[in-house]
Amino acid sequence: MDLAAVRAVLDASCGVRWEEGDAWLAGGTWLFSTPQPEISRLWDLARMDWQPLVVSEGGLEIAATCTVAELLAFALQPDGPWPDARALMADCCRAFSSSFKVWNTATVGGNVCLALPAAPMVSLAVALHGVCVLRAADGRDRQLPVGDFVTGAGRTCLRPGEMLRCLRLRAAGLAQRTVMRRASLRPGGHSAALVIAASALDDPGQVTFTLTAATPRPVHLSFPRTPTAAGLRAAIEQAVDATGIVDDAHGSPAWRRHLIHHLAEEARQALETEN
Ligand SMILES: Cc1cc2nc3c(=O)[nH]c(=O)nc-3n(C[C@H](O)[C@H](O)[C@H](O)COP(=O)(O)OP(=O)(O)OC[C@H]3O[C@@H](n4cnc5c(N)ncnc54)[C@H](O)[C@@H]3O)c2cc1C
Repeated sequence: MDLAAVRAVLDASCGVRWEEGDAWLAGGTWLFSTPQPEISRLWDLARMDWQPLVVSEGGLEIAATCTVAELLAFALQPDGPWPDARALMADCCRAFSSSFKVWNTATVGGNVCLALPAAPMVSLAVALHGVCVLRAADGRDRQLPVGDFVTGAGRTCLRPGEMLRCLRLRAAGLAQRTVMRRASLRPGGHSAALVIAASALDDPGQVTFTLTAATPRPVHLSFPRTPTAAGLRAAIEQAVDATGIVDDAHGSPAWRRHLIHHLAEEARQALETEN
């Protein structure tokens, strides 16, 4: 893809002077896949030299520049912390409609900031109660829950010149049992609906459901104890009516609405059986 309007590609690690028409460049798997007539300069994040994954007692920090392949390698380590959460990470990495070739370049941050409804890194981070660390042009950081950061299909709270620095997943969010269910029009295709049910390991009664791909922005439902099938259905209806349903080439709204209920009920039953 020729980006005909781009005049310069600049190294963000050398200091950034943000202007109108600027954009961050991460893996470029989306930026270079479609015309970008409104972009005149790219600030390349490749040399930021951020450690991709930092494990601490407090949890896990995933740098925005961590690639999907790096996250998958971490998730597949035979011995490591948070086995349940890492199994979910692996499932979410595999939920891209792209192949491993794209995973080697595509970044977690690029996926979250692109904020497509079918962004599996958003699904993952919301289900694990993740927080975005956003860095302004003056170097100041602010934090937002990932579920609030994504405001619609392809829309986020990013301000001009602000970048996503990392995702923070706290130990409490990582200590959850999770069940993921996903459907697409063809095997390995773009997700039409993706549901993650999660319960705290130390309090299995507390359950959350994260609905993505079928809704323009993530829907996160919390229950003080495992809901009944009817209770879950009613809560989903109410929440989804508020956000609306995605209508695009990857699935009709009626089918997606059916899928959300079907997958959520499957996940609810699986979680109940495991608990
Ligand atoms: C074959 C194929 C299949 C794909 N399948 C999927 C899919 O199933 N689901 C999906 O969600 N996407 C999919 N994509 C789109 C894209 O590849 C992914 O979303 C990828 O994770 C984007 O990451 P990137 O590092 O390449 O981002 P880039 O293309 O570099 O950037 C994407 C956007 O995010 C901004 N950005 C990047 N990093 C930051 C940052 N740190 N701070 C602020 N803004 C930033 C950029 O300015 C740009 O607007 C697919 C792409 C291809 C080519």
